[in-house]
Amino acid sequence: MQAAELKLAKSAGFCFGVNRAVEIVLDLLKKGEAVYTLGPIIHNPQMVEDLRRRGAEIAEDPEDVPKGAVLVIRSHGVPESVIERLEALGVRYIDATCPFVSKIHRIVKIASTNGETVLIAGDKTHPEVLGIRGHCKGSSLVFKDEDDLQEIFDSNPQFFNEKLTIVAQTTYSTKIWQNCYEKIIEKGFSNATFFDTICNATAERQREAVNLSQSSDLMIIIGGRSSSNTAKLRDVCAPYCKTCLIETALELPQDILNGVKKVGITAGASTPAGIIKEVLTTMSENINKELDENFEELLEESFKNANTNGKVVLGTVERIASGEAYVDVGRKQFGIIRLSDLTDDPNLSVEDVVKVGDKIDLVILKTNDQDGIMYLSKKLADIPKAWASVRSALETDDVLEGIVTKVVKGGLTISFNNLRVFVPRSMASIERDADLEALVKKTVKFKIKEINDEKRSIIGSIREVLSIERKEKEEKFWSQAEVGQAYAGIVKSLTSYGAFVDIGGVDGMIHISELSWERIKTPSEIVKVGDVVNVYIKNLDLEKKKISLGYKDPDANPWGKLEKEFPIGSVVEGKVVNLAPFGAFVNILPSIDGLVHISQIADKHIEKPQDILKVGQIVRAILTDVNLEKRRVSLSIRELLKQESDESDAEALAEVPELVEAEELAIEASAPIVAEEAVVEAEAPAEEVAVEAAPAAEEAAE
Ligand code: SF4
Repeated sequence: MQAAELKLAKSAGFCFGVNRAVEIVLDLLKKGEAVYTLGPIIHNPQMVEDLRRRGAEIAEDPEDVPKGAVLVIRSHGVPESVIERLEALGVRYIDATCPFVSKIHRIVKIASTNGETVLIAGDKTHPEVLGIRGHCKGSSLVFKDEDDLQEIFDSNPQFFNEKLTIVAQTTYSTKIWQNCYEKIIEKGFSNATFFDTICNATAERQREAVNLSQSSDLMIIIGGRSSSNTAKLRDVCAPYCKTCLIETALELPQDILNGVKKVGITAGASTPAGIIKEVLTTMSENINKELDENFEELLEESFKNANTNGKVVLGTVERIASGEAYVDVGRKQFGIIRLSDLTDDPNLSVEDVVKVGDKIDLVILKTNDQDGIMYLSKKLADIPKAWASVRSALETDDVLEGIVTKVVKGGLTISFNNLRVFVPRSMASIERDADLEALVKKTVKFKIKEINDEKRSIIGSIREVLSIERKEKEEKFWSQAEVGQAYAGIVKSLTSYGAFVDIGGVDGMIHISELSWERIKTPSEIVKVGDVVNVYIKNLDLEKKKISLGYKDPDANPWGKLEKEFPIGSVVEGKVVNLAPFGAFVNILPSIDGLVHISQIADKHIEKPQDILKVGQIVRAILTDVNLEKRRVSLSIRELLKQESDESDAEALAEVPELVEAEELAIEASAPIVAEEAVVEAEAPAEEVAVEAAPAAEEAAE
């Protein structure tokens, strides 16, 4: 290839709308989302493939989107019916329709709802045009050029008497649009309303391409073959010089620069910067160095024109979508406020900050005449008011409210009406080792401690407000506190002897013995820090400002249960928990151990309790005495044994009535021999019964 002078159009490459859609996809991928786009996100196969490699799949239909994935609607927009289907199917979606296209949707919807016929200048198979027609509530027709338009008028003479709304596809040729406009005026359609909806980026790109082609021997147009705006660039340049459309550097003919001195280069709105750079690099090694140095600068040229003039304008919110608010500021540019320019509060969405129809003061961040957009900031517009409030609060010692935005070195930052306030760690909490991260995204009250105008810094204190609040709470508490009052408290700390509980700004203590009716070794067996516990004031020491708290449920008091359910003489069961020389302790209810005195352990004399019992053994005994005051319980196993023995004797007698009768006879007769005879007689049948029963028992044993 021979050296030639290459000139790259300033408007080459991604337009605002395409850039925005691609950024949305990349951002979602970065967040780890499963991303689908409804059709290729842009008309550039290389970029689409690159996104696919990164994980963005293409869905041709909403039903192709798997559950959990997020669908991105591309900048071309879609018919309203597609949005309705997505919602009916419950598909999560982000609408990346270019705001310039959304504006057309609104125009045609309003016009057609009012009964007007909509005429659209554009390609009727292009997704953008299909989307526009999908927002029309009545009849709509598409024309591609003046001839098409003529045909429409010829076959619809009634249009002379009807209201018409005429819009253009955003990438429509400005030249053909102008011709069509003249034709309609010439035909005398006085009821037609024109909306020049050709996007500024398109118009500017075409204008620059024409200028460049007029001073070049060759125009290289870089972009996807299915891209409408790329094709238009080729069409507008072709009348002035040799024009070549390529998708990538690989398509550059070897001899492309033969006999060519001046080459103009431009690219479609969906052509990535990397592809443009590759083409430039391939075209001439002689100018590579210079291009490398200047390329980024060239591509950023449009935004280099950006004007950060800090001017305040009044804007009206027209639409909210995809984390942005679109605003009319009464200028030709389209106003955009990104969420990050609306608020610092990480909890808020655009909808939380502004509503459609709101009129708000905004600072112009930058304007891009090429794309016809203007970035605005509400945050910056709010700052003077926030400064005034901060200064006043310092003077009056007022308490302000803000959102903790992040933990920084040495403390944290609060956003107060989008003004940054620094709070040193020592002023961030009452507790020395407080976890500051836990405060992030929380609303906090603070006081202004210092303003440094030179450094534009503000220092605040949360601690001071907390201390005042705590003191007020304490005073209120002590003025109302009474024994017996119940609270839901939060366990703040544990010691070996109890738990400290915050009962509303004041701490009380539950002694370990109060935590459970059963014996416990540490308070942590029952409660842990952070638990919400129901407590009541057991004791108050107003002088020393000490509070003892009750925690145990009186209904669960085992002594109450013992009194109610176990009268003296009842049989209880329990586990031997301790053996002493004088007796055995048996646990019969949680925290109640009864004593079985050594004399009551057996129905005979024993030397020591261990002769009969061992620790852990389950025993039954008679409750012989309860002293509720002294919390003492006496038990007797011996008494139970005696009772059981008496009962079994009685049962035995009941089972052999003949024997009883015989005994009675014997007593009546007062004659032992006769009685013995009678016993023998009476016993005989019993033996017989025993003998008879034996085989059955043997069978059962087998
Ligand atoms: S060409 Fe214009 S309307 Fe189309 S996506 Fe780009 S900025 Fe939006």
